[in-house]
Amino acid sequence: MEQDLLKIASDALRKAALNEDVKKFILQNEKLFNTLKKAADRYIGGETIEETILTIKRINENGFVVTTDFMGESIRSEKEANEAASEFIRFAKTVKSESLNSSISLDLSHIGLLVSRDLTINNLKLICEEANKINQEVIISMEGTDRTNLIIEIYEEVLKTHSNLGITLQAYLYRTRKDFEKLIKLPGSIRMVKGAYDTPKGLSIARGKELDEIYLSYVEELLAANHKCAIASHDSKIHNRSIELIDKHAPSNYVIERLLGICNEELKTFKDKGYKCRIYVVYGKEWYLYLCNRWAEYPLNLFRGLADIVE
Ligand SMILES: Cc1cc2nc3c(=O)[nH]c(=O)nc-3n(C[C@H](O)[C@H](O)[C@H](O)COP(=O)(O)OP(=O)(O)OC[C@H]3O[C@@H](n4cnc5c(N)ncnc54)[C@H](O)[C@@H]3O)c2cc1C
Repeated sequence: MEQDLLKIASDALRKAALNEDVKKFILQNEKLFNTLKKAADRYIGGETIEETILTIKRINENGFVVTTDFMGESIRSEKEANEAASEFIRFAKTVKSESLNSSISLDLSHIGLLVSRDLTINNLKLICEEANKINQEVIISMEGTDRTNLIIEIYEEVLKTHSNLGITLQAYLYRTRKDFEKLIKLPGSIRMVKGAYDTPKGLSIARGKELDEIYLSYVEELLAANHKCAIASHDSKIHNRSIELIDKHAPSNYVIERLLGICNEELKTFKDKGYKCRIYVVYGKEWYLYLCNRWAEYPLNLFRGLADIVE
């Protein structure tokens, strides 16, 4: 019964996130906008680079490294893709001028994947070059299964000339075993996640013990090889087991990673014990969609949102 209700809430929130009428209504209604923004504030670095820089500074001062994503995806025009790329470049320049520590994370569909391969490659190279000036990497997020091939292909292409590039792999996809075996041979960093997108039937493993074990087997291979990697999850079980694996293999090239605002208290306990921890900061004006997604993936977070709004 409780599980059914959580599923209903999750489906409704996913629908709300994609509903343009709901979004327009919220954006035009100042009181509602301000109310929901209070709940979103926990999860976002800010709406602008300037606000976000202050958040990153605070997080850096608390001993975490950061990766930052200017939110957006599925851009369908060259102009918007180039504008997004310019924003990432401006972000890297600001990190440099403020002497902060943040790498860049991005969706390739934000910088041109749905427009053209060449445009995406060009934009990605420009961002990598700017990130390289601050000794930082650019980590590609993984999107829906209709995009996996092209994302991996572009990653391999750009990695040939830009070594400060990394990629995200989704443990829930059956195909990932093959992708993993190919990509672990390359120098780029690998972020492991369980996987967030709905997939066509037969392509992915459902949440549960089997997926947890598969996820951890990838993590162990990365740690044993001391391959640069990020262990990205909000699952205490996964992170505690990963810590046992870190102790076993004593790697130097890993980070334990969580999104800003989600179970960060526990991340602090890992950091305080000496493990390298990274907080993934997202910023931008599209926070409404982002908030709905954070609630949809774990509807109990709605109660946290309620408390954030009231306090
Ligand atoms: C840094 C980072 C980057 C990511 N990048 C990508 C990407 O590029 N592509 C992609 O497909 N997915 C990405 N994800 C999302 C990922 O695939 C999972 O969907 C997400 O992390 C939830 O899975 P989980 O491992 O946390 O555990 P789950 O199996 O989903 O949940 C296990 C337990 O973890 C806790 N938990 C999970 N989510 C939450 C939450 N939101 N709030 C509070 N507790 C929670 C709960 O206790 C839950 O019972 C990313 C996640 C992170 C942390």
